[in-house]
Amino acid sequence: MEAVGFLDGRVQVEVGDITAARVDAIVNAANSSLLGGGGVDGAIHLAGGPVILSACQRLRQTRFPDGLPTGEAVITPGGKLAAPWVIHTVGPIYHVAGKKAALLLGNCYRNVLDLALSRSLHTLAFPAISTGVYGFPREQAAQVVSHVLTERLLQPPLDSQIRQVRLIFFRQEDAEVFLENQTFPA
Ligand code: ADP
Repeated sequence: MEAVGFLDGRVQVEVGDITAARVDAIVNAANSSLLGGGGVDGAIHLAGGPVILSACQRLRQTRFPDGLPTGEAVITPGGKLAAPWVIHTVGPIYHVAGKKAALLLGNCYRNVLDLALSRSLHTLAFPAISTGVYGFPREQAAQVVSHVLTERLLQPPLDSQIRQVRLIFFRQEDAEVFLENQTFPA
């Protein structure tokens, strides 16, 4: 699949392996322990090497003894990844979050963007947070993600700060579901 662009090409929907993305930061769909897991989390730790886990362990000890709350985001070095930074965020577990699921998923994207702003990062790559093991319906996630990105990327301060957001889906079918359900302006 060719990448498909939205918001004047600043958002790109593509199929691929996020661990290979050359951007200022890739986003990890972490769990609250920050100590690694399966899925995209496992792939990022495997590709980036132990530098990422050490930084996560330090964050647990210093700032988050009880784990990173759902919807929040933290940053670590990218280790051996092409991306110099990894921003870790914890998506909602759909059936646990109940009515708050959409708000919490939106918070993940908002807090990642705010962290990118505070670190002067210009290019990001996101996986499809919460839509794997955490069970968030892909159709609803597409609506939440396109809404939050439209709202934030078109307004100050992120309008002049964020040059590129790549939404990288592991499977072609997931990208297609996103494209069918997104609500970006034409
Ligand atoms: P969560 O626990 O937040 O649901 P998962 O890792 O289970 O996170 O799944 C999130 C999404 O990441 C899924 O769509 C899965 O297919 C995708 N994924 C898994 N590995 C990769 C990868 N290397 N690059 C991009 N996306 C990936």
